[in-house]
Amino acid sequence: MTASRFDDSWRKDKSSTQRGYGYKWQQSRKIFLAQHPLCERCKAEGKVTVAEVVDHIIPHKGDMKLFWDTKNWSALCKWHHDSVKQREEAGRAIAPVGLDGVPEGWT
Ligand SMILES: [Zn+2]
Repeated sequence: MTASRFDDSWRKDKSSTQRGYGYKWQQSRKIFLAQHPLCERCKAEGKVTVAEVVDHIIPHKGDMKLFWDTKNWSALCKWHHDSVKQREEAGRAIAPVGLDGVPEGWT
């Protein structure tokens, strides 16, 4: 099996538990969100929004050291999490994006 830097086949044909999103993750993210209850990006914009998602600042791509490094974790609201992922995966165009940068269907 060969793997290139751009190979994301680790995402495929693996259950979420095998990718690390198992029970331990569910517990850890719950604790993290309790400690970081507000979206960090909204906070930076002067807004107060409840964080719902723990995001990996550096995509872990299956790297368990990155995955469990809480310094690499960021509490985000659903909107910011999705917008971060949109940008990260822009090359793969998971949704059409309008002229203002907002994916169509969001407004
Ligand atoms: Zn936010």
